[in-house]
Amino acid sequence: MPKQAATPTRRKPGAARESTRGAGVSLAEKFRRLGLVDPQDLVMHLPLRYEDETRVQPIASLRPGLPGQVEGEVLRSDVSYRPRRQLVATLRDDTGELSLRWLTFYPSQLQQMQAGRRWRVRGEVRGGYFGLEMIHPRITVADAPLPVSLTPIYPTTEGLAQVSLRRAIAGALMQCPLDDTLPATLVDRLSLMPFAQAIKILHSPSPADDADSLMEHTHPAWLRVKFDELLAQQLSLAAAREARRAKKAPILAVRPGKASLCARLVKVLGFDLTEAQQRVISEISADLALSYPMHRLLQGDVGSGKTVVAAMAAMQAIDAGMQVAVMAPTEILAEQHYQKMRVWCEALGIEVRWLTGSMPARARRGAVEAIASGQARLVIGTQALIQDSVRFCNLGLVVVDEQHRFGVAQRLDLTRKGEADAGGAGDPELVPHQLTMSATPIPRTLAMTFFADLEVSSIDGMPPGRKPVTTKLVSSERRAEIIAHVMRAAAAGTQTYWVCPLIEESEALDLQTAVDTHAALALAMPGLAVGLVHGRMPTAEKAGVMRAFRNGEISVLVATTVIEVGVDVPNAALMVVEHAERFGLAQLHQLRGRVGRGQAQSVCVLMFQAPLSMLARERLRAMYETQDGFEIAQRDLDLRGPGELLGSRQSGMALLKFADLAQDGALVRAAREAAIELRRDEPAIVIRHLARWMRGREDFLRS
Ligand code: ADP
Ligand code: MG
Repeated sequence: MPKQAATPTRRKPGAARESTRGAGVSLAEKFRRLGLVDPQDLVMHLPLRYEDETRVQPIASLRPGLPGQVEGEVLRSDVSYRPRRQLVATLRDDTGELSLRWLTFYPSQLQQMQAGRRWRVRGEVRGGYFGLEMIHPRITVADAPLPVSLTPIYPTTEGLAQVSLRRAIAGALMQCPLDDTLPATLVDRLSLMPFAQAIKILHSPSPADDADSLMEHTHPAWLRVKFDELLAQQLSLAAAREARRAKKAPILAVRPGKASLCARLVKVLGFDLTEAQQRVISEISADLALSYPMHRLLQGDVGSGKTVVAAMAAMQAIDAGMQVAVMAPTEILAEQHYQKMRVWCEALGIEVRWLTGSMPARARRGAVEAIASGQARLVIGTQALIQDSVRFCNLGLVVVDEQHRFGVAQRLDLTRKGEADAGGAGDPELVPHQLTMSATPIPRTLAMTFFADLEVSSIDGMPPGRKPVTTKLVSSERRAEIIAHVMRAAAAGTQTYWVCPLIEESEALDLQTAVDTHAALALAMPGLAVGLVHGRMPTAEKAGVMRAFRNGEISVLVATTVIEVGVDVPNAALMVVEHAERFGLAQLHQLRGRVGRGQAQSVCVLMFQAPLSMLARERLRAMYETQDGFEIAQRDLDLRGPGELLGSRQSGMALLKFADLAQDGALVRAAREAAIELRRDEPAIVIRHLARWMRGREDFLRS
């Protein structure tokens, strides 16, 4: 999968018109928009892809969806007015005919397309109404000499032509030294191509360079660039780790004995901690007692019991006199943490507060005051916690639940906020410890790259008594049967989640679907209490519905994906997901994790609407075949690349422009080893390498 760091350059209908819009902007400004300020930038602006213009092919061999280049004679041309004004020409060679179409054109183009003239044309081939066609093809003189090597196509911006980019880059290549940043010994040992050679090949391949591997990014020149990029990432992650260790955090030592909050929490839980939980608790506990900030990820499959682990960490911090903040991505989840932790904290005499965006002003003011005064020892909330108006008193530990749901920027905000407020009453230099939690395990290559500055603790076992969920894939045509099944289950005392289809494009539609589904199900299941919960509901109402469901007063809960994360109702043993084909794999796994929490055998019905796309089919197959969160995460990475795992609103992905984590695992490992070695032996080289690769990008790497 090529990285789409910048706008793809493929010509679209209307592209000619768009380009005139950029006309008022100076050339320099257009380069600046691409981040191309000095010759170094230009040299590192590598092609997005290549076009093969070295051959002219017969018209008969053109295929829809692929680029093509042909030569022929204009048979006829016409301005047509249906459905809109356009220029249509027919080009002919010995093997067939091809339509050419312009939706905007100049009078001069009409001249060019006069019958009888010969042209070389190139563009993407489409299957049109009257056979194959090209829209806005590029036109050049027929019978001119063909280029002998691939043509690079660069990421560009509106109104900046490929020729301008090529010219500027060629100029930069002449004046810019392409010194190798790496020592020759390393280059030799890893059989890397020298940097200068790699860059030259990528910008202007020669006929001798293998075209396929250049296009597929497997050519040694690409491997060199990817290695360098990954190495830069590893080096700056290592630097970030070192910088973190140089910071000071409050030492949260465990208070020994039965009187400690941790020991007392264990007493009030009502269950025994599993071995896996005890192990991760002690890992976290040891980190908290260090004098630099913890940065630890707690991963454990859905339902593995992460909340109590977080609570134990919180108790250790509170026992040491510090404040704790727990941030969750949705109000429902924050509310649930609040309900659960409040019970525990009340038993221990600890004041808990909660804070969300939709709280009434007065309640909010009260919470903000209690947080600022330090009266609130434990604070639970949504993103509202990172607002400017919230000031902590002496924040010692920050817990972020379901961290992949937050974007990089939000996570950075919370860290910064923590840094600003950690001192509070005490030492202004102090930075809080950080614990992030996720049910989506991080595949190895990701763990080694984007999350390399995290220590990882894994809960690798489930609390006792969990039974695997039976997953059924059912066509939506059998909806009536499913409704009957839900009613039978309700009669036997089993509660059901009914998850509405996800409508990405529109929140309003999403809501409407939930309301309609609720009405339809209430009608179809007379005598059953059917409830509704969705993201736009006022908080109090939402909490009321969830409480009623938890108490068994509602049999069937119609929900949007607000229940995706964290909700915990053991008696809900049946889940129906409508239009499961529209959900992502991680999302389906999270949803399914809502059932299978009690003693009963649970069932998850994934209702789908045929026909399924290839991707949807693979996702549903994965759900059917496995319940192992790690396996699912790996398949997700294979199916859609790392974006999903890194968070939906992810901007950090732009960081790797060339390397592809799904494909370049071996390079990641090599880069990691090289980074360790260089940091130990060659500090000057580290600086030189980062200077080339990390211009202005260090900040995001701290996430
Ligand atoms: P998740 O890891 O998905 O956040 P939770 O922390 O919500 O999972 O835990 C799921 C359920 O398991 C909760 O009801 C919790 O109280 C319960 N639980 C956690 N640990 C144990 C345990 N050791 N024994 C029994 N039940 C447990
Ligand atoms: Mg949870």
